[in-house]
Amino acid sequence: MAALALAALAGACALPAAHGPRLEPVAASAPPRRTLRRASGDVHVRIAALTSAKVLDVRDSNGAGTRVERRGAELAVDGIVRKELTLGERGPWQIAGRSYRGSLVIRAANTASGFEVTNVLDLEDYVAGVVAAELVLWNSGLETMRAQAVAARSYAVCALDDRGARRVDPYLVSDTRDMAYAGAFQPKNARERELEARLLRAIESTRGRVLMEGERVVDARFHAACGGHTADARDISPEARFECLRSVDCPACLGKLAGTNASEPWSATFERPQLDALAARFKLGAKLERISPIATDSCGRWLEVELTGSSGTVRVRFEELRRALGADKLPSSAIEATVPRAGDKLAGSLRFEGRGRGHGVGLCQNAASDCAKAGWTAERILAHYYPGSKLVDWR
Ligand SMILES: [Zn+2]
Repeated sequence: MAALALAALAGACALPAAHGPRLEPVAASAPPRRTLRRASGDVHVRIAALTSAKVLDVRDSNGAGTRVERRGAELAVDGIVRKELTLGERGPWQIAGRSYRGSLVIRAANTASGFEVTNVLDLEDYVAGVVAAELVLWNSGLETMRAQAVAARSYAVCALDDRGARRVDPYLVSDTRDMAYAGAFQPKNARERELEARLLRAIESTRGRVLMEGERVVDARFHAACGGHTADARDISPEARFECLRSVDCPACLGKLAGTNASEPWSATFERPQLDALAARFKLGAKLERISPIATDSCGRWLEVELTGSSGTVRVRFEELRRALGADKLPSSAIEATVPRAGDKLAGSLRFEGRGRGHGVGLCQNAASDCAKAGWTAERILAHYYPGSKLVDWR
């Protein structure tokens, strides 16, 4: 999830604070591997929020500070030039108002300025940080947190395993390229200390537990709200390889659970300059003239669209269109109408109307909250949104 720090979403609608990992193609050829090692060890997480920082002021648990600046391709640490800085287990470390457990490895970023900061920490501490960043904690009961913890742990183990199999430096990123992570939850008052206690109970009660399909830990994607039916991962990414990432009805977003409402509709309007920028991006000439869905799933989600510009036509996957327009500006593929109608000539602006937020694959976070309020356990929630998967204890 771009950093899905959607604080505004934490307001009245109480949608999740983030959207889960965005859906990129996954490796089709990664062999099945046992992942026990990664289900119980340290993970490496790149802190995206610090990549463009000018200076890092790092403080240890006693408040002692270290000032880190860029000096060409190296660092100046309290004025002394060095290649990298490793801050070991004396954490938690405070940087830019956030608290990181484990250790930190700081290098110059592979760009003209900024830093590459890697937080090396226990998987369970990482999962706690992801749950705190992905959910609105005050609106999340224990079972919601437990379901999110299992999904986040499974996703992390699967992603690291894939990257290890492909000999990519196996690390996770603290934004929607993987999952939102803002370090450890820092309670500021008695109410937040209660939330922290609930969060830690959720992590402890699911410690080491992951979803599996056959011999593989599931690529347990999740998203903010499906709008009524989740999406089939294979419709979006043909390389997707888990049966349990198929479309299911969502009783919460359909408003079928006692005490819950159907997911709120949204509308998104794009003005002529944005539409023409889209035409330029896809090399269709100066003006975008038409947009039509040419493939939808059985629930009507847009899978593929045809864009016609003043000098050409192209077919693109809807998620590619969504990224081009801004994933936060065009919330989901569950589109119910457009103005003007799809296929009609665009005169000025284009309005989409739909439901849901995010790519729609896997756990619907809106449902995790509503189903838990209706009495569902985390196990029942996970079984519904990842049908056929098994909850396995890897400890
Ligand atoms: Zn839903």
